[in-house]
Amino acid sequence: MDFPAQLLAWHKTNSRDLPWKHTSDPYKIWLSEIILQQTRVAQGIPYYIRFKERFPTVAALAAAHIDEILRLWQGLGYYSRARNLHLTAQQIVEQHQGTFPKTTKELLTLKGIGPYTAAAIASFAWNEPVPALDGNGYRILSRIFGIDAPPDTQHGKKQFTEIATQLLPPEHAGTFNQALMDFGSTICTPKPVCDKCPLQSGCHAFAHHTTEILPAKRRRTTIRTRHFHYLYLRRGTFTFIRKRTKKDIWNNLYEFPLIETNRATNPQKLPATPEWKTLFTQHPWHINQTPNALKHQLSHQTIHATFYTIDIPETPEQIANEYLQIQQTELNEYPMPRLLTLFLENT
Ligand code: SF4
Repeated sequence: MDFPAQLLAWHKTNSRDLPWKHTSDPYKIWLSEIILQQTRVAQGIPYYIRFKERFPTVAALAAAHIDEILRLWQGLGYYSRARNLHLTAQQIVEQHQGTFPKTTKELLTLKGIGPYTAAAIASFAWNEPVPALDGNGYRILSRIFGIDAPPDTQHGKKQFTEIATQLLPPEHAGTFNQALMDFGSTICTPKPVCDKCPLQSGCHAFAHHTTEILPAKRRRTTIRTRHFHYLYLRRGTFTFIRKRTKKDIWNNLYEFPLIETNRATNPQKLPATPEWKTLFTQHPWHINQTPNALKHQLSHQTIHATFYTIDIPETPEQIANEYLQIQQTELNEYPMPRLLTLFLENT
C-alpha cells in the first residue's frame, strides 16, 4: 500500500477549506496552530479572524497590551498559551527583526513554539520536509500501521516520528502534513468512519478490529477537585475585582474576591468560616440572591464554584486595600476566566 500517495489523492478532492490554508505567512499559520491547540476548528475560526484582524502582523501582536490579548483569548482556556503567544511575538520582534526564523531548528529556539508547531510552520510556509504530528497524525499512523506505543511516551513519539519521516514525500511535505490533519479530522476520527475510508484495505486496525483501542491510551492524569466561592460584591453601582498573580490557574486574569475551601461547603455555612469573617470584619453584608452554583472543567482540575451576590453599604478594609473598585458596567473590559463570564452572562 502506498500510504502517502493514497492520502494525497484523497486530499486532492477532500481538503478542508479553512481560512488559514490560503496563506504561507508563518505568522498566520502559527496563530491558527496555537488557537487550534485549544479548540475545535469551527470554534477556532472566529478567534483566528479576530486575532488576525486586530493584530495583522507579529509586530502588532508584540506591541499589544497583554490584557487585550487575554480578552480576545477569553473562552479558549489555557491562558498561559495566550501569554506565551505574546512573549514569542516579542521575542521574534526583538531577536529576529520581526521575521519568523525559516527552519524547524531555529523555530524551536522560540519560547512558545514546540516540535509540532515548529514543524507545521516550517512545512506549511516553506515546505520543509519535516513531519508535523498532532493527535490526528498519531491516530492515523497507529491504526494504519498497527503501532501500539502510546504517542505521549518518549519511545512512542520516536517511533511515530521515524515512520512519518520515512513516509513524508519531500516535495509535498506541507500538503502531506495538512492531509494527515484533514483526514484525521473527517475520516479517521476518534470514532472512525471506516466505511467511507479509501485506505481501508491497507489498514491494520480495520483488519484486526483494533480501531477502538488504537492509538494506545495516553497516561491518566489526576484530576484535582477544587471548591471556589466567589463574592460578587455590589456597593451601589460598584463592584470589586483583582488580578490573579499567584502560580496557579488563570494567572493575570481578573476575578471577584475568592474564598477557596478544602471541601464542599454549604453556602449558608460560608459566612461562618474564618475567611468570610476576616474579609467582612464588622462590616454589614446582605446576600441578595440564592447563591449560584457552576461546575467548570479544566484539563487537570474540576472547579465547583458558587457565586454569592452580596450587597454592601460600605467597603470593608481588606477589600479596599486589595481589590480594584470598578463600575459593574466595566466588568467586560477586564479579561476574566470563562467561569466568571458565564456567571455574569446569567446574572
Ligand atoms: S479504515 Fe478506519 S481506522 Fe483505518 S484508516 Fe480508515 S478510517 Fe482509520
